[in-house]
Amino acid sequence: MGGFLPYVLLVLLPSLVLTGWAAWRVRSTYAKWSQVDSGINLSAFDFARRLLDRQGLTDVRIEPTPGQLTDHYDPRGRVLRVSQAVSGAAQLGSYDPSGASVRLAGTGGSLSVAAAAVIAHEVGHALQDRQRDPWMTVRQAIVPAVQFGSGVGPWLILGGVIFNAVSLAWIGLIAFGAAVVFTFVTLPVEIGASGKALAFVDSLGMTGERHGGARDVLKAAAWTYVAAALTALLTFLYYLMLIQGRRD
Ligand SMILES: [Zn+2]
Repeated sequence: MGGFLPYVLLVLLPSLVLTGWAAWRVRSTYAKWSQVDSGINLSAFDFARRLLDRQGLTDVRIEPTPGQLTDHYDPRGRVLRVSQAVSGAAQLGSYDPSGASVRLAGTGGSLSVAAAAVIAHEVGHALQDRQRDPWMTVRQAIVPAVQFGSGVGPWLILGGVIFNAVSLAWIGLIAFGAAVVFTFVTLPVEIGASGKALAFVDSLGMTGERHGGARDVLKAAAWTYVAAALTALLTFLYYLMLIQGRRD
């Protein structure tokens, strides 16, 4: 198969560069703004609770979750999970996950700009869920097709190309296409949540340089989703090239 070199040059190399750059940027931006006090005198969990309650999302629960940049909103369970890195629980060692609002021992209530931005972004997702945001709805609806398409699609394509079963390869490509669509539908969901997040932190008095910092953190995070979408698109185009190359 002569397909390996074009794969490296057209898909693997650009994807690695783009994904690596985006990951580096999100980590460095996060590291920078996690050193800067947001001026909001609340713990991460109290801040999350305050924002949720202000949006009328009193039924959304808050839970701690291990790791860094693992913060997320889970629409099925209506749970906002705050990472240890954001909550500072990893450094402080003790949190009490016994209630909806988890209190940190001895934080002094200092919330970094980065932590505030990340939490506000996840509250943005919770609000999108409540408002039945159309992009989020589409995104949730195609999840089963995406799981099927990204798992089975590439095998159907490769099998179809190897055994010259062109229609099988096309079915695989269409199935994989669902995964590509998913990564692109994710973009308006993420950018929408960040727009809401900036309005939230503004309303809590994070203005000027701190607002700029929150914007930088959210923008860096958005680039990781752009990188994922472009990687999926490049992979799709490569598969298309493989199928069409085989047909001639
Ligand atoms: Zn998000």
